[in-house]
Amino acid sequence: MTVDSERLQRRAHMAVFGAVLGGALAPLSAVPCMDCGGTARVYHHPRGYEADHQLDVEPLCRLCHRRRHPTPKREKRPSVAKLLRLPPALEARIAALAKREYRTFTAQVLVMLGRQLEVEEQRRDA
Ligand SMILES: [Zn+2]
Repeated sequence: MTVDSERLQRRAHMAVFGAVLGGALAPLSAVPCMDCGGTARVYHHPRGYEADHQLDVEPLCRLCHRRRHPTPKREKRPSVAKLLRLPPALEARIAALAKREYRTFTAQVLVMLGRQLEVEEQRRDA
């Protein structure tokens, strides 16, 4: 977000805040979410933050607000196996174990690494 758009947004929020304090706009606690009827948490600016639309707001709950602002899909993170450069055979074995004993591949890898560290420490202490 640019400095200008941040400033516009801040001004719009201040305007809403002022309108609620002054009684021109109902406090969020007094209005339901416009989309689902749940507890409203934010005043959404469907027309943007320009001065003309500062007070064109709709009460929304957090979930519905998020739906109104779909975030672009994040780039998929590389898998733990790729990060660790595990050989495919080992990756497959861990994946099988993870399914059986632990919920995730990552958890299984961490447990394995933890066990390995313990073994090494014991060896060093001995
Ligand atoms: Zn809602």
